[in-house]
Amino acid sequence: MNHDQGVISRYRDHLPVSDATPIISLNEGSTPLVHAPTLSEKVGRGCQVYVKYEGLNPTGSFKDRGMTMAMSKAAEQGAKAVICASTGNTSAAAAAYAARARMDCVVLLPAGKIAKGKLAQALVYGAKVVEIDGNFDDALRLVREIGALDQFEVVNSINPFRIEGQKTASFEIVDVLGKAPEVHILPVGNAGNITAYWKGYCEYRDRGQCQSRPKMLGFQAEGAAPLVRGAPVEHPETVATAIRIGNPASWDGAMNAIRESEGHLDMVTDDEILEAQRWLASHEGLFVEPASAASIAGLMKSLDPSRRHAENPMASIAPESTIVCTVTGHGLKDSDIILKAAFPMFKAKTDKEDVLHQLGF
Ligand SMILES: *Cc1c(COP(=O)(O)O)cnc(C)c1O
Repeated sequence: MNHDQGVISRYRDHLPVSDATPIISLNEGSTPLVHAPTLSEKVGRGCQVYVKYEGLNPTGSFKDRGMTMAMSKAAEQGAKAVICASTGNTSAAAAAYAARARMDCVVLLPAGKIAKGKLAQALVYGAKVVEIDGNFDDALRLVREIGALDQFEVVNSINPFRIEGQKTASFEIVDVLGKAPEVHILPVGNAGNITAYWKGYCEYRDRGQCQSRPKMLGFQAEGAAPLVRGAPVEHPETVATAIRIGNPASWDGAMNAIRESEGHLDMVTDDEILEAQRWLASHEGLFVEPASAASIAGLMKSLDPSRRHAENPMASIAPESTIVCTVTGHGLKDSDIILKAAFPMFKAKTDKEDVLHQLGF
C-alpha cells in the first residue's frame, strides 16, 4: 500500500518535487467541500454556496498543505532544524511536520496573542516555543534575520514551497465541482493563501483542467486591514488572531489576485466576524475559528441590501453562480472565545422533573 495520500502524492505533477524529495506528509488535504443550503438560500438567485472546510486537516488548519511541501523540501536539502513566526496555526503545522521529519522546530509567537489550542499543539508536538514581546510582524522580522544565519530553514510563507503546497486547495475544489467556481471568498492575513489559491486556479486553467477562474474576494479584519487601507498597520488588533497582521508578506500576490480576477478586497469588523462564526455553527453545523469566519462575514456583508450597488462585489454575480468560501481553521482551536461569551446554560438537580422544569416544559 502507498502510505502517502497527502497533497504531494496526489498532485505531484503540479508541484516542484522529484524522486529525490522525501515526502513528509500527514495525509493532509482532501478536506470536504460542504454544501451550505441555508447560506445558499440567503444568497438567493439560485446561487449555491460551498464551504471548503480546512479545519479537517491533520493539525486543524490549511497550513498543513504548505507545510508538507516546505518540510519535504527542507528534508531534501538536508536541513536539521526549521524556524517560523506564527499567529498560531503555522507553528502547530511546523511543529507536527518537523516531528514527523525528525527535525528540530523553533517557533516565535506574539506573547499572549495565541489561541490556547494552537499553543498546546506547538508544545505537544515538541517545538521550542519562544514568546516574543511584540506582534507577528516583529516575530517574522526576527525569523528573517535568524533564517539568514543558515542553521535554520524558514518555513513561513516567505518560503515559496508553502505557496506551492497551499495551491492544491484550488485543485481539489475544481476536481470536486468539475469546474472552477464563479466566486471564491477567503480571509486574508499574511496573504499567502489568497496568493496560493489564485496560483492554483491559474495553473489548473492553463492545463485545461477548468475553463474559467473565479473572482477572488478577500476579507481582512477591520483592525488589521493594511491591504484595504493601502499601508501597513503598526498595531494590528482583532479577535481573529490568525489574521492579526499589519504588514503582509504576500502583499503583491494578494493585490495581483484581486486585480487579475477582477475581484474585491474589503474588511469586516470583529462583531461581524463573531456573528458569522456563530451563525455558521448554529445554521450549517460548521464550527470554525474566528479568522475563518471572516470569509462568511464578508459574504454576508456583500449581501447587505443597504450597501450601495457599485461597491458591492456580489451585485454583478450572475444567477446560479457557484460560490466557495474557504474556512481556514477549526473552531476548537480557540474554544475560549466561545466560552467567554455569555451563552445561556441551564442548571438542574438530579431529577427528571427539575430538568424539564428548568427547560420550561
Ligand atoms: C494563516 C491563517 C489565515 C490567514 O492566511 P494568510 O495566508 O496569512 O492570509 C486565516 N485563517 C487561519 C485560520 C489561518 O491559520
